This record gives sequence, structure tokens and C-alpha cells, in this order.
Amino acid sequence: MLKRLYSLLPAFIKGDTQRAPSAGNTQIKRIIPRDEHNISRANISRGAVSAMKRLNDEGFEAYLVGGGVRDLLLDGHPKDFDLATNATPEQVRQIFRGARIIGRRFKIVHVRMGRELLEVTTFRDNHTESESERDSHQADSGMLLRDNVFGTLETDSARRDFTINALYYTSKDFTVVDYEGGLEDLKKRQIRMIGDPLTRYKEDPVRMLRAVRFAAKLGFKIEANTAAPIAPNAELMGQVSSSRLFDESLKLFMAGSATATFTLLRDYGLLAYLFPQTEALLQRGDPKAEKLIEHALVNTDKRIRNDQRVTPAFIFAALLWPVVKEKQEALMASEKLTPLVALGQAASAVVGQQLAAIAIPKRFLIPMREIWDLQLRLPNRAGKRAFVTFSHERFRAAYDFLLLRESAGENFDGLGQWWTDFQVANEEGREAMVKNMTGPKGRSRRRSPRKKPADPA
Ligand code: ATP
Ligand code: MG
Repeated sequence: MLKRLYSLLPAFIKGDTQRAPSAGNTQIKRIIPRDEHNISRANISRGAVSAMKRLNDEGFEAYLVGGGVRDLLLDGHPKDFDLATNATPEQVRQIFRGARIIGRRFKIVHVRMGRELLEVTTFRDNHTESESERDSHQADSGMLLRDNVFGTLETDSARRDFTINALYYTSKDFTVVDYEGGLEDLKKRQIRMIGDPLTRYKEDPVRMLRAVRFAAKLGFKIEANTAAPIAPNAELMGQVSSSRLFDESLKLFMAGSATATFTLLRDYGLLAYLFPQTEALLQRGDPKAEKLIEHALVNTDKRIRNDQRVTPAFIFAALLWPVVKEKQEALMASEKLTPLVALGQAASAVVGQQLAAIAIPKRFLIPMREIWDLQLRLPNRAGKRAFVTFSHERFRAAYDFLLLRESAGENFDGLGQWWTDFQVANEEGREAMVKNMTGPKGRSRRRSPRKKPADPA
């Protein structure tokens, strides 16, 4: 994958190299000409190429940056392209019809090119880069700060997170610009923070999650100085809003590397800030829970690789199920509640606590709880029950969840197989399958005749 990159390294080091005058002495500008890197225009989306051209035609600089360039250099297929320019958001908006300025933390322009959506950001400056929620709030409110935000390619480069995310490509002369040594780190397959890692984590603790996410996704190591402050400063994560953590958790678990990501999150003590109850349970040592979660993550990664649908509700359901189950059992024992009532109470308590960490929206909470509830309904198949359960909107996810529990070692006497057969059977076959079923715990499916009111005499 990196063969071409290896071979071009000496070339660009010899190439056009100069120190950036204004951005600290760690920056060295390297320009890699078109015949010394492996980015082919054919792999860049049409929209991104024409947006760069339009900006250039209007007299502005325009570069692809971030994941797009990184993944192109790794011979990957970027899922989206981000652009950086010296045009202000307002100028960008004027150039592209229908462009919209968005962004709470900092302004981004969404530019639509056909069916593509591009994110265009204006070069930012170093001294405005404090990205903690508090500081960005101040920045948002102050006109002065906002006006001072804009910078140059080199200041923009310095405020990005990792060196491999700070590579710029321009279709003007097809060169790659590298101020931070990103190409060398791509070659070394490492995630290295730009600047002093601890300072950068304090500015924005989400960068700890990003380090782990890229390491897992790319199979890179986290460079020692970048890795060292994470675990000892994991509590910085407490400052990140629960809504931002929800966005990040989707990127962590829904991008095809959930399994590797989960392991690294635990190793670096970060899972405790995303799923505190799950982390606590796993720390007490629960091999069954560990297995269930691992199987859920492995399945999710596999489905993503095969372009199958995945829903965050399912992953959240799996990550929290062992906690819910433990609480349900405790409630059944201490309060003598029925399984269904205990499950409801346990689920409410667990979800309540979870929301303090990650603001999971209702559209995922509701299906998650339905998946859990259906676990208690799937065994009851007598009479019309199997048909009612089968027609439930969440049946398929609940069935998958049942198979997951079985694969992780729970034994339900062939219940998963029964439901597999039920789904492929025709109507007659299904009737036959439920015919000899009895209700839960061997109860007859027929209702006992209503008791007559007691005779007052
Ligand atoms: P992905 O493939 O997941 O989209 P990406 O690197 O493009 O990876 P984005 O979240 O799309 O990640 O961000 C685009 C770029 O913006 C990053 O590559 C990085 O240069 C910069 N960036 C994003 N988040 C931060 C942050 N918290 N701190 C500093 N720079 C950031
Ligand atoms: Mg991106």
C-alpha cells in the first residue's frame, strides 16, 4: 500500500524545502511535485476538483485537506473531501450557489456540487484555535475573535490535530504541501500530534478519541509522546458535552473498526467516559459480557464491510445489555418483580445514567429498548404470540440480538433456530410450528375461564 510513498520519501526531502517564517520553528515546508506522490486526480471526486478550480479562478487558494488527502496517499478511497481556502466563509458562499454557512464551534461552508456535499473551511490561525467548549463559546460570541480567526496555509496546518491530517493537495499544480512531517508519519504508520500533545488535548479532549479512532481505523500506532498523556489525562473527557460525545461515538463504532477501537478505548481509559457502567462491569470481570460485546462489534464491522445496514441502536443495545441484565436480576431478587417489570425498571435506570455521558437521541433509544423488551417476548410463541412478535417493527433486530446472545454462549434450547425456521416457513408451516407451543413456563395458552364474582351469600 505504501510502496510508492516509501520510494518517494527521499525525493521530497530533497525537494522544495523551506522554513515557514511565521508559524514556529517546528514547521518545515515541503512541496511534493506531482510525479513524486501517488495521488491521481481520477480518485478525487469531480465536485472537489471543480470546487478547487472555481476558487482558483476567483483568485483564491484552494486545497484538499484532512482525511481525503491522507486516504488518497494510502491508496484508499476517501469517503468525503474537505477543502481549505483563503477565501472567507462569506466569499465562499458568494462563489457557490446554494452554499450554506454552518458550524457552532467554527464556521464551515457546506457546498453542494451535484450530489456531493463538500465542507469548505477558511484557513485558521493559531492563536484562535482554543477549541474547548468554553473557549469556542467565547469565540462564537465575539466579533473580534471571529475576524481574527483567518490565517494562512501554515497557520492552518499547525492547528490541525495529527500530522497525517495536515497534508494539503492542490489541483492547481498537483502538488502536496506538508508542513508537519505528515508524509513521514504516514510512512512510519504513526499518529503523531502536531505541537505539544497535552496542550492540544487540553484544548480539545476529543482529540484523544480521534487518536484512538485513526489508530484503529488505519492500523497505525500512536506515537509515544502522543500516546503518553492520554490515559493519565483521560478525565479531561469529562469536559466534553454529551451531544458531541454522541457524534463521536457514531464515528468510533460505525466506521468499520469498532472492535479495534473498543480495545484501544479500554486500554487508554477512555471507555469510562463513553459507557461508564459498561466499563465498570467489565472491570469487575465478566467474561460473558465481554464476549457478547466483542461478538456485537465483530458483527458490526463485518456488516459494514459487506455494505449491510447497521443501526447504532443495535450497538448501544449490546454495549448496555450486560448492565441492564445485571440490574434486572438484582431487582427480581430484591424487589420480587416479574422479569418484564424488572427489565423495564432496569432499562430506565441504566439509560438514565448513560445519557449523562452520551446524549443518545430518542430515535435510537426507543429501538434499543424495544430490542431489549423483545428478548423477553421471543420465547413466548404460543397462540398468536409468535405472529405478534414477528410483525413487530423491531423483530429483525431483536432476532439478530438473540442470535448474538446465543453466539456469546447463552443457551435458549434452540430458540434462535426456531425463529430462523419460522421466518423461512410458509403460513401453514408457521401455524404448525406454533400449534404445539405452550405459553411461558408451560402454561396453557388458553386463558383460564373468568372467575365468577364471589357469591355474596
Ligand atoms: P475521516 O476519514 O473520519 O473523515 P478526517 O481526518 O477527514 O477523517 P474530519 O473529522 O472529517 O476527519 O476532520 C477533517 C480535518 O479537520 C482533520 O483531518 C483535521 O485536519 C481537522 N480536524 C478535525 N477535528 C479536529 C480537532 N478536534 N482538532 C484539530 N483538527 C481537527
Ligand atoms: Mg473527513
